[in-house]
Amino acid sequence: MAQTFHCPYCRGILNVEGKIVFSVKTKNGVRGLIFLSPELGNYQTITNPFFKVKEGELHHYLCPICHSNLAALEINQNLVKVILTDENKKVSEILFSGIAGEHCTYKLREEELEIFGDDADNYQNFFGEGPKF
Ligand SMILES: [Zn+2]
Repeated sequence: MAQTFHCPYCRGILNVEGKIVFSVKTKNGVRGLIFLSPELGNYQTITNPFFKVKEGELHHYLCPICHSNLAALEINQNLVKVILTDENKKVSEILFSGIAGEHCTYKLREEELEIFGDDADNYQNFFGEGPKF
């Protein structure tokens, strides 16, 4: 069994056929579906051409199963949180930016933080004390 991405609220599985599926809402309240890559640090997205994602704008990510808002309010309202269970059944929290075009992903497991993406510096300070470079 490969890795699975779960909603933190209903535990529903969000990955289907090599993509992670979310229901999203734009700032103007337009709703649509977005497919993301399950590969951390890969920011390719797929949407229907009728659903326009505006670069630089915060999108609200909702669980497509229970419709909970996935914003990680305890860390930063721009970040979206899902749960990853890997091949070895190890569980991590995955956080990524809900701002279209902002490339940062954080993988948190116990005390360990792994970061991905060119914009990872933008929120790193929200993850408690870490080494400052
Ligand atoms: Zn859910």
